[in-house]
Amino acid sequence: MMNPLVLLVDDEVPFVETMTKRLKKRDLVVNTAYSGQEALDILDKHRNTDVVILDVKMPGMDGIETLEKIKKSYPLTEVVMLTGHATVESAIEGMKKGAYDYLMKPCDIEQLMQKVEEATQKKRIHEDKIREAKVKEAMSMHGLE
Ligand SMILES: [Mg+2]
Repeated sequence: MMNPLVLLVDDEVPFVETMTKRLKKRDLVVNTAYSGQEALDILDKHRNTDVVILDVKMPGMDGIETLEKIKKSYPLTEVVMLTGHATVESAIEGMKKGAYDYLMKPCDIEQLMQKVEEATQKKRIHEDKIREAKVKEAMSMHGLE
């Protein structure tokens, strides 16, 4: 599998810096954002992003609102929500709105890696199916089937 391309979104700068180092050590390609709006701007530039790791609690546009916008514009990109004890309900709401999974902070790096890999695989299988369907459609349009 090609290395997952990840976007890490959290308003806590030291958290983002530490996690980015750890994820890069494990061969992920990592972009970072410190707000929901910045996350959307970066996704616009990196449309092949596999997984967004998204903090629920952020000032301004919170994680849920950011998730909704991500899923609307990039439906194949998977989202893993990061939550504290006080915001588990938001994580559940996020999963109902299309997030792949959630993790409690402080998050275990191995658990996070596992979820990122699973989510990336799901996205790529999904993309393959869409590609196959497009090929079939093109073939039938040209009477090749
Ligand atoms: Mg936060």
